[in-house]
Amino acid sequence: MNRELLTANGELPTRLGQGTWRMGERTDRHRSELRALQLGFDLGMTLVDTAEMYGEGRAEALVGEAIAGRRKDIFLVSKVYPHRATRSGILTACEQSLKRLKTDYLDLYLLHWRGSIPLTETFEGFLQLKQQGMIREFGVSNFDVDDMEELAAVPGGTEVFTNQVLYNLTRRGIEWDLLPWCRGRKMPVMAYSPVEQGRLPAKVDSIARKANANRFQLALAWLLHQEGILVIPKAASEAHVIENHKASEIQIPGKILSELDALFPPPRNKSPLAIL
Ligand code: NAP
Repeated sequence: MNRELLTANGELPTRLGQGTWRMGERTDRHRSELRALQLGFDLGMTLVDTAEMYGEGRAEALVGEAIAGRRKDIFLVSKVYPHRATRSGILTACEQSLKRLKTDYLDLYLLHWRGSIPLTETFEGFLQLKQQGMIREFGVSNFDVDDMEELAAVPGGTEVFTNQVLYNLTRRGIEWDLLPWCRGRKMPVMAYSPVEQGRLPAKVDSIARKANANRFQLALAWLLHQEGILVIPKAASEAHVIENHKASEIQIPGKILSELDALFPPPRNKSPLAIL
């Protein structure tokens, strides 16, 4: 992990960021999506996650607009399609992402999921991009423990900054092995779909009320109370951004944690990594 990116406390400037999947796709929503992202930045949610896949580049274009004039305050994450992550393809893909994002570097570049290109090729590309200053850090997404272990034999594989995976109250499978594996290596886990794409069950409401929160805020606060988790909810409206930001101030008492464990039990055995 690049220490320069971290605060004096050894943490990223923010652990609560913003996702962008399905943003930038509709012109009639452009202004409100732009305002939502910018409000999130104003509130300190300065980590933003995007991908060349999202809207086939349109989410990146929106993010490019949103970060204009404040690039240095943003921790910018994008992802490469697995089929483009060849030794030379990844250089082109990154250049194209940077152009859409109107910047000359990414803070973090991820392999979106594992495809058929050998990891050694992709990582050769990552190392080259880093050397050229086009990316500061690189990492992976949707990698299970066996994939992470394979990285040990790949040049650059142990320099992975994060693994971005599906993790929320209703999807706790990674607690069995992947999360401890990453924690043991001081590697942050970036939790995607942290509010289960807006489909958290209504049964969370009564518990959330006890924490003076709604179910979305409680789900975010539950992730944030854990060590080493980065959280990237997507919110296309200012109202949702404000609610999500407030989640960072919510303390969850032990009694509520136990009630959540009863509703959504931690895993009792290994299950394959869930992917959306
Ligand atoms: P998510 O963040 O769990 O949920 C987004 C949905 O929840 C949207 O419909 C949003 O509505 C709604 N929502 C957000 N805050 C809310 C609130 N306070 N109250 C009510 N509804 C709320 O799901 P996601 O977009 O799948 O995941 C987040 C980000 O993770 C993505 O945007 C993307 O950047 C990343 N991701 C990565 C992968 C991967 O393979 N690496 C896969 C999935 C996602 P509005 O939009 O209307 O505000």
